[in-house]
Amino acid sequence: MRRDRVADDIYTFTSDLYAQVTAGVILTSEGTIVIDTLPFPEETREMIAFIRRRGHGSVRYVINTHHHSDHTNGTYLFPEAEVLAHSLCREALQKWGQKNLADAKRQTPGLAEVEIRLPNVVFEHDTYIHLGAHSLHITALPGHTNNCIGALVEGDKILFAGDAMLPVPYFVWGSPEDSARSLRRIRELKPESVLQGHGQLLLRGELAYEIESSLHYLECVQERVQRLVQQGAPESALLDIDIESCGKSRVPLDGLVRYLHRENLFALYSRLKGEGAQEEAQESPVV
Ligand SMILES: [Zn+2]
Repeated sequence: MRRDRVADDIYTFTSDLYAQVTAGVILTSEGTIVIDTLPFPEETREMIAFIRRRGHGSVRYVINTHHHSDHTNGTYLFPEAEVLAHSLCREALQKWGQKNLADAKRQTPGLAEVEIRLPNVVFEHDTYIHLGAHSLHITALPGHTNNCIGALVEGDKILFAGDAMLPVPYFVWGSPEDSARSLRRIRELKPESVLQGHGQLLLRGELAYEIESSLHYLECVQERVQRLVQQGAPESALLDIDIESCGKSRVPLDGLVRYLHRENLFALYSRLKGEGAQEEAQESPVV
């Protein structure tokens, strides 16, 4: 696990066990705010050990940026905290959490002790946390899922974007239209830096380019898949649309982005063909 200091009392953590999942910790004089947890209990426990060494008082809030297990698996390790999320995140965890977790435990012994902890403070569009010297503006950023949110630390202008910002937009549980709207919303928030749900912290100089390139990607995949569907091409024709031809590199997240890209294409194809496979897809989050 990697830890980086991104402002005076703000730290980011990155999993090296699974898909470079990120989490954040904000230390304040009145307690700590945790933004997402890491996939494996041992990694979230390392975060907790750090908070015990460096923090003041207990963890007051855990924010779940969306319901996917790679970000929420460690929430149960903070029994003292309020868990804050979008109301649809609570609904999704109620609906799919236990089943997804049972499936994951069968495949991954390291998750044996994980339990579902449901968010107990929910909101719809925007909400705020004021703790110690820090204020967070928490806002809906749907697209990757319908329940994605981001948390902007107001003074430092660091946005914890969850999976609303990824090296390649990934929308099989949401929609490309919402993803594009949320990217524009991120631009409007004018952050100085953005922590993506997976991968690196984006600095101000990189941000405008990354948002542009993701918006271009979303348009490109929609256009290309639509054309194939209109031509009556078979699903296998999707494999000819490579990620570079839509302006994105195949390198980030140790190459996982190629898989995300392919999943995007297949999801769009079945949507345009009117085969809504979304409910099924909810059952196997990858990123
Ligand atoms: Zn996700």
